[in-house]
Amino acid sequence: MEYKINFIRNSYIRFAEAHKDELINAFWDRVSKGELILRDEVRKFEDTLAKYTNTKYGIGVNSGTDALTLSVRALGIGPGDEVICPAHTFIASIYCIVANGATPILVDVGPNELIDPERIVSAITEKTKAILPVHFHGKTCDMDRIMLIAAKNKLFVIEDAAQALGSTYKGQPAGSFGDLGCFSFNTPKLLGGWGDGGGIVTNNKSLAEKLYLMRNHYNMAQSSIRREDFPTPEIVEWAGKSRLDEIQAALLNVKWKYFDQLLARRKEIADIYCKGLQGLPFKLPEYNEGDVIQEFIIRVLDSDTRESLKNYLAENGIEIMIRETTPNHKVKNLGLENFNLPITESISKDALRLPCYPELYNEEIEFIIQKIKDFYYKEQEIVIE
Ligand SMILES: *Cc1c(COP(=O)(O)O)cnc(C)c1O
Repeated sequence: MEYKINFIRNSYIRFAEAHKDELINAFWDRVSKGELILRDEVRKFEDTLAKYTNTKYGIGVNSGTDALTLSVRALGIGPGDEVICPAHTFIASIYCIVANGATPILVDVGPNELIDPERIVSAITEKTKAILPVHFHGKTCDMDRIMLIAAKNKLFVIEDAAQALGSTYKGQPAGSFGDLGCFSFNTPKLLGGWGDGGGIVTNNKSLAEKLYLMRNHYNMAQSSIRREDFPTPEIVEWAGKSRLDEIQAALLNVKWKYFDQLLARRKEIADIYCKGLQGLPFKLPEYNEGDVIQEFIIRVLDSDTRESLKNYLAENGIEIMIRETTPNHKVKNLGLENFNLPITESISKDALRLPCYPELYNEEIEFIIQKIKDFYYKEQEIVIE
């Protein structure tokens, strides 16, 4: 059906319309010069990413999934090793461990819906090699505790910051705490590109050097980028290919210019929602200082209410996304079914995402708020004091 307010698509369309000339020029610049693979725009993007996250090196890759998978591999983690991560995340955070032949040890989240540091401690064994915290929905994990646990137990930390570009924990950017920080520039992400894209940041020179090679068949001589910083290696290893395209980087470099504005607008939208939806019988999201807004998720009473609210809004032309239906560890055939994670499971029953992107018009947000109120006042006959 045709929605009046779609869940995300208008975000890309409206941004592109508003910046059409700049985007076309960026595209045409690369195409007309024949500069398509690992050239200046990728370099510029990587430098911006490093600077923005207050790290030394940025490595552009093809997706957030690849960023994570290459990170696990670069740290030498493989068969027989365990990596601790939350189940309440996008499946890629777990896949990157499995893809390297290692074993994911899933732990539950705390009431803030982020990995619970105390549960990390109980999950550590002599096989544990790394902790993989996920800064989910723009909220940063308790990095003081996590870094302390990692140091005490000599574990690597790989941050999944795919949903947290621009968020900070006690003033320090997400992605800059661990050995490696991973980002996604996939279309619906905070800095969403026009298709797939990913990035890794690190302060560790040898890891950076390794990753620049690993994204390109271990062959740096093929391209001009990063050659002067990192000499062609003597030892060559098997590696696949995962490069950020020049065209994609050029378009993303245009979007960077507006990124802080876009983040501020997301905050504004979250505030309008929070104000307008106060007093209704569901849990509103809670944000800490430094968090960014990747999603606006409310927790309704139960899955039946969630379904009827979703349908009611759909009838009124508002598209709603329910992603948390089956928690990752309950998905059949993935071999994760032995984990028992009550908080993760409860989130999957009642979490509902409202449209939340910078390009939404205020009238649209107000319309959504009004329709949610109508649902509770009229449909559910709830009396609000
Ligand atoms: C999107 C996402 C990824 C994967 O990024 P892709 O670019 O889609 O491959 C990994 N982790 C989290 C938490 C994500 O949201």
